[in-house]
Amino acid sequence: MQQLLVASGNQNKIEEMRAILKTRYEVLSLKDIQWTEEIPEPFDTIRENAIHKARYFYEKTGKACFSEDSGLEVDVLDGKPSAFSARFAGPEKNDLANIHKVLELMQGVENRRAQFKSVMVFYDGKQEIITEGEMKGHLINEIKGQNGFGYDPIFIADNQTLTNAQLTKDQKNEISHRRKALEAMIKALG
Ligand code: IMP
Repeated sequence: MQQLLVASGNQNKIEEMRAILKTRYEVLSLKDIQWTEEIPEPFDTIRENAIHKARYFYEKTGKACFSEDSGLEVDVLDGKPSAFSARFAGPEKNDLANIHKVLELMQGVENRRAQFKSVMVFYDGKQEIITEGEMKGHLINEIKGQNGFGYDPIFIADNQTLTNAQLTKDQKNEISHRRKALEAMIKALG
């Protein structure tokens, strides 16, 4: 079976990919190849970082590679924090600090539209497939819910009354940006 390296340190993403692709690929994580260095994210956009990551790990390993990058884009912040979502409040990548920074910037702001974006890239040296998914919604001005991660406690998706962090894992996965990008990727892989 062909090996597919998922270029991510996020175990949830790896398990998700393993479950979906298990009949087609032996899914490897960076841990499986004993990768301990920082994962490069040198660009300002989610898309560029995702492409770079898949190509970088292909060059390093010669294996087919898959990467996923995601982030929150806030309309009145000109689409920020985008590629900087995880480290918006600093390099320690603290979810709560990131939320507080967004809430502060959004204090008194009327237009609260925002979206999550996911970009997925498959690269095997011959073929490059790029797919995207979005979850549109708005930001509230308080923290609600215990589930999920990142900005989930302050984000309500369109057609929902609860924040992503108040939805169950399955409810969020059903409507998520990652789900949409992944479905498009599976279709494109054929
Ligand atoms: P990464 O793609 O794993 O580096 O995630 C980027 C960052 O975007 C996360 O650390 C979160 O801050 C944010 N993010 C991406 N997807 C979600 C989501 O589904 N819910 C909440 N925050 C998210």
